[in-house]
Amino acid sequence: MTYRDIFERPQPREEPHYETQQVCMNGHQITVAYHTLSNRRQDFCVQCGSPTIYKCPKCHAEIRGIWINPGVVTASPTPVPDHCHSCGDPFPWTLLKDASGALDAVEAAKLGNELPPIMVKLVYRKGGE
Ligand SMILES: [Zn+2]
Ligand SMILES: [Zn+2]
Repeated sequence: MTYRDIFERPQPREEPHYETQQVCMNGHQITVAYHTLSNRRQDFCVQCGSPTIYKCPKCHAEIRGIWINPGVVTASPTPVPDHCHSCGDPFPWTLLKDASGALDAVEAAKLGNELPPIMVKLVYRKGGE
């Protein structure tokens, strides 16, 4: 089955809805049609080897993937979201991006050994889980 099959399947009664997206912990997109294209699921990312998720780690809402509107072909790619649509929490890859950005800033400014607040938050989260 391909993406084209999803759009061209005759499903007159199906309501437009979001499919589910699978993303690795570093933010690499695995699939934007987790349920429909189950053969594209991966437990681990082929690019970086990190485990993958398809639900928000906090509220367990499924990560929004491709927008399926039967009869309407959408050509635009589905971006990896930064935050959960359900609870607003940043996803793990968003925290990583923020953290590396903060670290870069710290290095550039040579501010010493104090952790930027985002790193403290990350350490706290890891310890709490
Ligand atoms: Zn990855
Ligand atoms: Zn959430």
